[in-house]
Amino acid sequence: MKIVSSEFVKGAVLPEQFPDLEVSEFAFFGRSNVGKSSLINMLVNKKKLVKTGQRPGMTREVNFFLINKPNGVKFEDVKNLKKSGKNKDIFCLTDLPGYGYAKLSGGMTMQIDRMLYDYCTNRPHLKTIFLLLDMRREPREVEKKTLEFFQDLDIKVVLVGTKADKLKKNDYIKVKKSWEDYFHFNSDLIILSSSAKKKGKAEILSYIEKELN
Ligand code: GDP
Repeated sequence: MKIVSSEFVKGAVLPEQFPDLEVSEFAFFGRSNVGKSSLINMLVNKKKLVKTGQRPGMTREVNFFLINKPNGVKFEDVKNLKKSGKNKDIFCLTDLPGYGYAKLSGGMTMQIDRMLYDYCTNRPHLKTIFLLLDMRREPREVEKKTLEFFQDLDIKVVLVGTKADKLKKNDYIKVKKSWEDYFHFNSDLIILSSSAKKKGKAEILSYIEKELN
């Protein structure tokens, strides 16, 4: 599958502000600075669809992007494409607010938790959440809890290791194996990536393509 277009739809905080697109949706979530913005930009072939290197805590909205919308079709008309069968490869890519901001006040953390819960429970077309983990960091309880939170809501999760270029190739296998053990997770659902080296893009897009069909 190729990504030929990507457009920002809107940023939202409350469920009633979430767009009604009626297309399959894939969300990206991870600790701030994990490389989420860089990964999304790599996937859509743009340098700045999402701003990178922001201060932790800058993304405090759920940001919705529409991928592969045909030229000239309005956002609100995308749902009609399904009826005409012209909706092939169209999907919504969602950038969820990052977590792990030591500098943020407790109030803000709660607001983000609320947003995440609202998001996960209000998106009937949500197919999968890609949970990003920096390959150099040992996963901790917070990551395990996050994964369990999604699984308890029956949401499919793919683990994406980021910044693979910072590791030696020999260590890829070790990291993957340790995540399989730590999270009790199927290795087919672990994708290793590097935005710097354009690694992992084909695997993520091929996963999305399978889910769309
Ligand atoms: P976000 O906060 O999760 O959206 O992270 P960003 O995409 O803004 O990236 C955070 C920092 O990590 C930036 O300095 C990026 O240049 C760097 N970074 C992101 N992806 C990679 C990668 O694949 N390899 C390396 N070496 N650095 C990366």
